[in-house]
Amino acid sequence: MLSDLFIVTAPSGAGKTTLIKKALEYASNNSKKFVLSISHTTRKPRDGEQNGEDYVFLTEDEFLNNIKKEEYLEYAIVHGNYYGTPKSEIDQNLSKGLKVILEIDWQGALQIMKHYPSAESIFISPPSVDELRKRLTDRGLDSDEVINRRIEGAQEEMSKSNHFKHQITNISLDIATKNLLNIMFRENHG
Ligand code: 5GP
Repeated sequence: MLSDLFIVTAPSGAGKTTLIKKALEYASNNSKKFVLSISHTTRKPRDGEQNGEDYVFLTEDEFLNNIKKEEYLEYAIVHGNYYGTPKSEIDQNLSKGLKVILEIDWQGALQIMKHYPSAESIFISPPSVDELRKRLTDRGLDSDEVINRRIEGAQEEMSKSNHFKHQITNISLDIATKNLLNIMFRENHG
């Protein structure tokens, strides 16, 4: 059975956000109904990030309280912060007949795959660790310490790619976008 749920996982710097943005632009221009789920996090907002648009930014107490109330479909600690997918939003979107994209880490992805075995899971790899370091440095969002932590995490994360139904290596943004769109728009998905 094909699923309305798409899990997209990648080490940070693999180009996942740009790729998803391009795919969603294409989808809305072609009136295909895909939405990106907005996660909750205890990470501090980066410059330019908007509460409720990029993430819902919470304190650790608020997040822990939501865990207690079983409000998350999955949650995980990533680079020292909590991240979670709110159940209510996913259920609402799926019941409206929308297709939902979850942009989450591998730990969350494995949890979702257990609950929704028919979900399409997509792992996006950067071309190499050197290229990943270059991308993280060039985007200038994180300190060296954070970048080193992210690269260590990325190496662990890349070892999980075989749990995913689809693997895309982001060497060229255009080709990787086409590959992602092919998965999103396979027959019965569109
Ligand atoms: P960033 O802080 O760079 O936006 O995201 C860091 C990592 O957290 C990324 O790998 C991203 O996919 C992951 N992430 C974002 N939202 C969620 C979520 O709701 N659940 C899980 N498990 N990971 C998430």
